[in-house]
Amino acid sequence: MKVIKFGGSSVASAEQLKKVLSIVTGDSGRRFVVVSAPGKRTNKDKKVTDLLIQFYNAVVYKHDTDELIREIVARYTEIAAEFQVDDDIENTFSAELRQLQENFDEADPYALDSFLASGENLNAQLVAACFQKNGVRARYINPKELGITVSNEPQNARILEESYEKIYQWRDSEDILIIPGFFGYTTDGHLCTFSRGGSDITGSIVAAGLKVDLYENFTDVDGIFAASPKYIHDPELIEYATYREIRELTYAGFTVFHDEALMPAFKAQIPVIIKNTNNPECQGTLIKKSFENVSRNEVVGVASDGGFCGITVGKYLLNREVGIVRRILQILEDLNICFEHMPSGIDDISIILRERQLTRDIEAELMKQIEEKIKPDQLSIEHGLSVVALVGEGMRERPGTTSDSTAALARKNVNLRMISQGADERSIIFAIRSEQERLAVRSLYYTFFD
Ligand code: ASP
Repeated sequence: MKVIKFGGSSVASAEQLKKVLSIVTGDSGRRFVVVSAPGKRTNKDKKVTDLLIQFYNAVVYKHDTDELIREIVARYTEIAAEFQVDDDIENTFSAELRQLQENFDEADPYALDSFLASGENLNAQLVAACFQKNGVRARYINPKELGITVSNEPQNARILEESYEKIYQWRDSEDILIIPGFFGYTTDGHLCTFSRGGSDITGSIVAAGLKVDLYENFTDVDGIFAASPKYIHDPELIEYATYREIRELTYAGFTVFHDEALMPAFKAQIPVIIKNTNNPECQGTLIKKSFENVSRNEVVGVASDGGFCGITVGKYLLNREVGIVRRILQILEDLNICFEHMPSGIDDISIILRERQLTRDIEAELMKQIEEKIKPDQLSIEHGLSVVALVGEGMRERPGTTSDSTAALARKNVNLRMISQGADERSIIFAIRSEQERLAVRSLYYTFFD
């Protein structure tokens, strides 16, 4: 039994939906289908979710919405026409969008969530109708009926544990269930979405709840590559990866799979496979806890991400000052700032943060508090950093990975601002200047891959 999820580009047009239909009907184990909202048909196209944000803004600012509603609904009617769906999609979908507009309440913290979620919600209804038209016993199911209960965090919901038992009740459904991704309901009944790209999370939750054998995530690339095609021409496909490797790679910038989506599948030990709707024969990337009898590279991937900054706090005899790290972390906590890495020397500590957390005021406050409460001899902040991560469970058994990578970076004159290696030696993370990100990824990739 499998849960299968299709991303926006896989459901962007009738042509794509025909591929989806043939993939689902090609395997009788594919009984639970999670769909995104229609994505881009071409590079210049807009995702329905982005159109819905425009629609929401038009409602907020009391602009005319007729044209936008028409544009959104047209994305669905175009598909419905090709599948000769008899239902009056144009009128029912327009009415649903108008209803959103009428119910809009500026003071409601969940107002945007309902607009965002309607992209997937309407799509799941349409996909069910298209399947039925082709003789498939499929039906739309709302996440509330399915049992997806989430935390009270608008646009950033988290799943509540109680959901899994409820979802399990649907295991023996006779119909193929078509489930809209991206949202659930809070215990007090508010519709609440996950963060952007969150249909991957829904798929993982449903797979964990139903305890299926496999979660198939269909997208528009052959799987997860060992490095970003942005930097490497034709990079190797990662055929087998562990949950932890994918977690590290998505942390450091891989975007094929939403970084929160792995957790439910990981906890329930459901294998995940990333596959291509446009090339379903390709084996894709299989993600599991561990692998036996398959040969895998010691290093599985090189990831990178920008938007970091580093704060360096230096103080003579810092190593002898009891509680100093706790006091620094307390300042971060008081200002609600997460840190990513904290490498230390004898008399200094660096704190690597995501830059987007720092407005000018927050940065000034942070530096002021460190100055006052820590009284450092040296305090500085460096913006414009990237992290580059070398990831692979097998690195533990490969002597010299760190020296090979630092040598490769040195040959290209990449200046290292920080090196951090987790205790389990599953990844080595380098902080470098963002201008050198491309160079760093290329030199590491060509050191560990052909
Ligand atoms: N449609 C939503 C978005 O664009 C969620 C998703 O596609 O996963 O973010």
